[in-house]
Amino acid sequence: MVNRQFVLAARPEGMLRESDFRLVESSLPPVRDGEMLVRARYLSVDPYMRGRMSAARSYAPSVEIGEVMTGGAVAEVVESCNAAFHSGDIVNFQMGWQEYAISNGAGVRKVDPSLAPISTALGILGMTGLTSYFGVVEVCAVKPGDTFVVSGAAGAVGSAAGQIAKIRGARVIGIAGGAAKIDYLRGELGFDDAIDYKVVPDIAAALRDACPDRIDAYFDNVGGTTTDAVIAHLNTFARIGICGQISQANDTAPSLGPRMYRHLLVARARAQGFLVWDFAPEHANALSELAGWIASGRLKYREDVMDGFESMPKALIGLFRGENIGKRVVRVA
Ligand code: NDP
Repeated sequence: MVNRQFVLAARPEGMLRESDFRLVESSLPPVRDGEMLVRARYLSVDPYMRGRMSAARSYAPSVEIGEVMTGGAVAEVVESCNAAFHSGDIVNFQMGWQEYAISNGAGVRKVDPSLAPISTALGILGMTGLTSYFGVVEVCAVKPGDTFVVSGAAGAVGSAAGQIAKIRGARVIGIAGGAAKIDYLRGELGFDDAIDYKVVPDIAAALRDACPDRIDAYFDNVGGTTTDAVIAHLNTFARIGICGQISQANDTAPSLGPRMYRHLLVARARAQGFLVWDFAPEHANALSELAGWIASGRLKYREDVMDGFESMPKALIGLFRGENIGKRVVRVA
């Protein structure tokens, strides 16, 4: 049986290129006792993958040259010699960029297809939805009456974070790039305001207009100049959840900015980096709450679906060009 895989061909310098990936074919060994064979249905593309392609120190090991790219998937069990899984089961795990995989079941979560479309196990009912949930609830500790600002607001994490902050009674302002994203935030998602950082002449001035009572909680997905502007406009005892710094992902040298600690001191603010996996013991409860909000219509989501296994590199590169609204996934089969 032939398996197609994307391996890391080269460590990217600056912006990712399709030539950083190589499509290879390999044969699959037979399924042994305790194992199962799965076929990818949807593969996830996520900004963290850029970090794994680099040799720089991070919170997770780098992918080695020639190794299969890491990534989450929703897959279907096609053959099982593992008593806990049956042919036809839909599962979610770190399968990597490949069409088939053999797994012993470790780290594999069963997906309930009756809850929502199975692709959502990569997004709103999976890694990105959980990131939004814990960033808002635990790290930003959003409470009624807060002014909450989220950057990367029309993406997978940001769009859910803003809505969860609204559910918790905050006034929500999103920062994103492009008119379609701003319309989505103000219209479909009901954000109180949205700022297009690509066209406003001065992000700081736009924030002062949109947040007359200053900012109590900031969910940071992007870093860089957007975050500089937010930090200069914090309220007393503000909380910052440092979720991602995508604006710097393709930098070849450290980007220098204004020194911001004084603003944190003046506001007596707290900034905390976090990973979705820090809250792993609480994931199951959070998923039930997210599913309930979706069912009641309080939490909306969009998926940006690209077709075909071959489109994985393009799909990932597009995230760094801001092509997506909502969670980008690749439909494989
Ligand atoms: P998104 O769906 O938000 O896609 C990425 C978006 O980032 C793009 O659509 C684009 O939106 C924006 N972007 C791209 N390049 C830049 C840039 N140079 N400057 C500013 N914005 C840019 O991705 P996710 O929702 O999956 O991830 C959002 C963030 O959350 C990322 O930083 C990611 O690394 C982080 N993350 C962290 C986790 C954790 O556990 N801490 C878990 C999951 C994600 P626009 O058009 O608006 O610029």
